[in-house]
Amino acid sequence: MAVAEIIVDVPTMQTNRPFEYLIPDSLSDVVVPGMRVEVPFGRGKRKIQGFVMQVKATSDFQGKLKPISRVIDLKPVLSDEMLQLSYWLADRTYSFQISCLQTMLPSVMRAKYKQYVIPLDNEDTEVQTLLDGKETLEITNQLDDATIRLINKLRQNNKIDIQYVVENQALQIKRQAVTTNLNVIQLHEAKSKLRANAKSQIKLLDFLAHHLEELPVELNVLQKEFGISRSAIKTAEKNQLLQITEVTKLRKPVGIDPEKTTKLKLTEEQRVAVSEISDAIQSETPQTFLVEGVTGSGKTEVYLQTIEKALQQDKTALMLVPEISLTPQMVNRVVGRFGNQVAVLHSGLSSGERYDEWTRIENHDVKVVVGARSAVFAPLNKIGLIIIDEEHEASYKQDDNPRYNARDVALWRAQMNHCPVVLGSATPSLESRARAEKGVYRLIRMKKRINNQNLPHVQIVDMRDAENSATKGDFSPALKEGLQTTLQRHEQAIVLLNRRGYSSFMMCRECGFVLKCPNCDVSLTYHKDLGKMKCHYCGHEEPVPRVCPNCKSKKIGFYGTGTQNIEQQLNTLFPEARVLRMDVDTTRRKGSHAKILQKFGQHQADILLGTQMIAKGLDFPDVTLVGVINADTTLSLADFRASERTFQLLTQVSGRAGRADKTGHVVIQTFNPDHYAIKDAAKQDYETFFKQEMYIRHQANYTPYYFTTLISVANKDEGQTLKQSYWLKKQLETSLSKDAILLGPSPTMISRKQNKYYYQIIVKYKHEPQLHQKLLEILNETQADAKKGFTIAIDNEPQHID
Ligand code: ADP
Ligand code: ZN
Ligand code: ZN
Repeated sequence: MAVAEIIVDVPTMQTNRPFEYLIPDSLSDVVVPGMRVEVPFGRGKRKIQGFVMQVKATSDFQGKLKPISRVIDLKPVLSDEMLQLSYWLADRTYSFQISCLQTMLPSVMRAKYKQYVIPLDNEDTEVQTLLDGKETLEITNQLDDATIRLINKLRQNNKIDIQYVVENQALQIKRQAVTTNLNVIQLHEAKSKLRANAKSQIKLLDFLAHHLEELPVELNVLQKEFGISRSAIKTAEKNQLLQITEVTKLRKPVGIDPEKTTKLKLTEEQRVAVSEISDAIQSETPQTFLVEGVTGSGKTEVYLQTIEKALQQDKTALMLVPEISLTPQMVNRVVGRFGNQVAVLHSGLSSGERYDEWTRIENHDVKVVVGARSAVFAPLNKIGLIIIDEEHEASYKQDDNPRYNARDVALWRAQMNHCPVVLGSATPSLESRARAEKGVYRLIRMKKRINNQNLPHVQIVDMRDAENSATKGDFSPALKEGLQTTLQRHEQAIVLLNRRGYSSFMMCRECGFVLKCPNCDVSLTYHKDLGKMKCHYCGHEEPVPRVCPNCKSKKIGFYGTGTQNIEQQLNTLFPEARVLRMDVDTTRRKGSHAKILQKFGQHQADILLGTQMIAKGLDFPDVTLVGVINADTTLSLADFRASERTFQLLTQVSGRAGRADKTGHVVIQTFNPDHYAIKDAAKQDYETFFKQEMYIRHQANYTPYYFTTLISVANKDEGQTLKQSYWLKKQLETSLSKDAILLGPSPTMISRKQNKYYYQIIVKYKHEPQLHQKLLEILNETQADAKKGFTIAIDNEPQHID
């Protein structure tokens, strides 16, 4: 009997390797790698799930192997590439291989679902026997092996297909619709009997007469697109001119069918970029390109034309974008070019919709996938190009297990598929830009905006000035004036309230001073439970200052206003202006994000007020003013990337102004007007920022000069957590060289959540060949302690430390 190597669904270190099981003869051609099976595990009768990793003729195992109980999938759900990837991913992220395998599947397949046989060839006699006169057959564990074998054979011969349907989830959505059993002549007769002033009834009957072929039409569509009111429909129903029925609305992720677009004539900078990348696609070179292009330099057109190149070569393309910029605007640009060859994966989809898209990709019905982080696992094959837009975005890193960075996964897949990767950004991450400096990545710069449009004019407003600190509220005279002018000209404005790192740091409103750690060059954070200022990196603590250590002013304190408060201020200042607010509260409902943007895009509002989520990717021609209420919050994040994040945010948001023919104007309010991150962002000068920031990172031993690993320990008992942390630190000390820097243990920002205490240790290092192995060992050892309530998490290259 053949043998299968299986990764079982028991996430512990001891089971984090394949186990061998016999493949019963009755399932001999059925079991293949990438399929999920059920196997007995342990002593009792317990049955668990597992992934088949490999099938081989014999085993070296001395003892007695148990047989596979049954197959769960009737076709592999993961390709060989994905199985390979899971080994690498588990190792790199210090996570269980089973979690990695599951992460690659759409959530539907992790939930409770049913499987059905869908006939493709109804004439086939074996298909007829199998279905026995029914439309479909549910696959259950009651089926005998012979039937399973038949199903498998028919599937391989394309006579049937297998479909997954989530339990308790409506596959199709029901909607109310209007139809009529009258014909055209009857409708006209009915119309002639109406009074002349029954305008809405006449309109409705006209509509029905003209659209008889297309009935039933959804009630919603009648109301929204044809302006026919619900009461008019009700009246007509009462008079038996129409009937209301239910229709099933097919799932379709992209709401509107975008207009078809064609290739634009490239600028010289775009032409060079497209040509270099195309060469790599053609020659199947896994080269990584860093496209550093100022906002509005036309990076998207470069993406689109290189994708086209890949398709011409009969290959596929994968494009990752941050979730937040996965707006209809962005999606429409890709779908507008490649139509139904595109699958879109984003968190706004229901799990059923996601599964549909996943299936289309798996069936090779689509050639282009656009999606957020987890789309990097899309089951595309023959990938010819991978694009990561806004490559600097922290959201490409997953915060939970497995803590992977989609950028690293993309590079791995590019090696496998022999294809180039394009990292695009106006503000590349320091890591990527430094790699380009060293020649690891190929740097392509696009310095000009399309049509040589000017960059927006940026004004930095010093909030420490008497004039500004004297005003009540959060709007300086300069920003008020700017808004006034914009409104008078009937143009639009975007106002950003920067909320990251809010109210956890202290700043002096007199001189802009922020309390920093004497050792680590990061801001100290206020810990409420301790009533102290603390450093997340090294644990240094000091009392909360009462006066500013710099200027002795008493105006030092926590600093922060909410978006609602700013909205009220706007309403008071400009009662005639229409304000749209976009923050976590107004975008909680599915689709509301897109709706707000659509409304603003149609100029149904004058001011868009929002948090970070409005900073990116928006391209509205009427926006001529961007105002930043508070540039300082990101700057004071207790994170060594604080300056980088500030520079990125300000550059991105400034890039929203003046994208069409009108010149843009940006007002940045800050207490730190001389900070290089703010000055360079005002000039959209990435290169100068890069040099300055690299110098500082070098001085303070941070990325990209050092690698960083964050290890956190959690336990219900604080004393135990500390004890464990110190044990861990000692373990590390003995195995690391003198060049490595160990910081901590220190409590995390929220040192206590869900009744557990969290402490962390930071390892900074350049070259520590022992470290990886040591960390795996530590993980292994602490597994035994897991029962006592210990958990340990290892984060390679964390994106934020809090
Ligand atoms: P980026 O992503 O670099 O900020 P976009 O791709 O959004 O820039 O391009 C900015 C604008 O310029 C868009 O409206 C786009 O349609 C337009 N554009 C891009 N390339 C060209 C071109 N070659 N000719 C004319 N317009 C272009
Ligand atoms: Zn001060
Ligand atoms: Zn410190």
